[in-house]
Amino acid sequence: MREIVHLQTGQCGNQIGSKFWEIISDEHGIDTTGHYHGESDLQLERIGVYYNEADDGKRFVPRAVLVDLEPGTMDAIKSSTYGALFRPDNYVFGQSGAGNNWAKGHYTEGAELVESVLDVVRKEAEGCDCLQGFQLTHSLGGGTGSGLGTLLLSKLREEYPDRIVNTFSVVPSPKVSDTVVEPYNATLSVHQLVENTDETFCIDNEALYDICFRTLRLASPTYGDLNHLVSLTMSGVTTCLRFPGQLNADLRKLAVNMVPFPRLHFFMPGFAPLTARNSQVYRALTVPELSQQLFSPVNMMAACDPRHGRYLTVAAIFRGRMSMKEVDEQMLAVQDKNSSYFVEWIPNNVKVAVCDVPPRGVKMAATFVGNTTAIQEIFKRISEQFTLMFRRKAFLHWYTGEGMDEMEFTEAESNMNDLVSEYQQYEEVGVDDGDFEDQEEIPEEDYLEEA
Ligand code: GDP
Repeated sequence: MREIVHLQTGQCGNQIGSKFWEIISDEHGIDTTGHYHGESDLQLERIGVYYNEADDGKRFVPRAVLVDLEPGTMDAIKSSTYGALFRPDNYVFGQSGAGNNWAKGHYTEGAELVESVLDVVRKEAEGCDCLQGFQLTHSLGGGTGSGLGTLLLSKLREEYPDRIVNTFSVVPSPKVSDTVVEPYNATLSVHQLVENTDETFCIDNEALYDICFRTLRLASPTYGDLNHLVSLTMSGVTTCLRFPGQLNADLRKLAVNMVPFPRLHFFMPGFAPLTARNSQVYRALTVPELSQQLFSPVNMMAACDPRHGRYLTVAAIFRGRMSMKEVDEQMLAVQDKNSSYFVEWIPNNVKVAVCDVPPRGVKMAATFVGNTTAIQEIFKRISEQFTLMFRRKAFLHWYTGEGMDEMEFTEAESNMNDLVSEYQQYEEVGVDDGDFEDQEEIPEEDYLEEA
């Protein structure tokens, strides 16, 4: 069995992480106490990727390490329905908090906790038959998930240089949060992610908010609403790791297919059909509808317009009972019609998998993973916000007060700008800015109104 060790750090990381475990436990027939009550062997065939079997052989325990610099979020998880699912020793937390300060998470408060986290991680890794790698959930805008999260990533790189490291990284947006220093924390984090992860799923709060507000018509979206979209996405992109199949069946194969250049490993995820929490799906979508929505900018979890860039690589995962042949035909049709949006120098850069088991509540769904040069729009957005403040050295004393040097800000800024240029370089000139064919555009008046 090729196991994954999961880590979740900070408030956001813990909230989306525990949601992930709820969803996949449900999909694999694992109840809140870790017992299996499923109906299909498919659910157990690769259960060892994410779960340990407890000594009594009857209980499945998430291979998860929960980390925070303050107890609040983890207390909430512990007392939730799924709280008892996790191994009690794997809750690792401090009391100080990081106060939305990356420096506290990375250099001071976080550095004090990091060894106790690594002890738990080592124990989990040693228990594995053949560890494939790690996945980390965190936000980039706060202090703990971003600062301590990236500290953990660099420690993992050092200690497990040949294992794959994957992150689900939540990108900050002023539409969702009012902490002004988030561009600093995010830029310092991206600087680390470029070097220390093999694949990063960019989950952009700006896009999640827009989907909730424009598409799902929620007047004031909550984290619960945003995290519903995150959990659909995380369940979707991990489908091939959790269920039997050929394509991208482990983290390394995913990286090999998706990452043509080591630094360019920031993926844009997408999902169809989009549904609100607790809402009914009125009508099952057809394969052509799913395929078309899957490439729609509206369904992307990163606020980037893929029509502004080109796809280096794409993976699509369809779930439910459907004709593989129809899926292949539809996906080829989308590529044919939109060939200018796919770089021509990577032939066959769209890979498609079908998994029989649909997510709960729908008959069919599809998940998208795109390595698109348009992802640079996220980094440009953060960079602009960063530069406005950094030019005046605003709020820097909070960071230098923790012992950081201004140089590290300058380096992080230029590393992120380099990343943007690299994406730009592979995009080439002459991409036409036209629409994807057959795409429904949302009329402007539908989303320009204020909440
Ligand atoms: P930390 O505990 O110090 O890591 O800080 P947070 O995780 O609270 O980081 C703040 C950033 O995360 C802001 O950009 C928030 O908008 C975002 N955030 C916090 N909680 C959630 C959540 O549950 N879901 C999502 N999508 N974003 C969150």
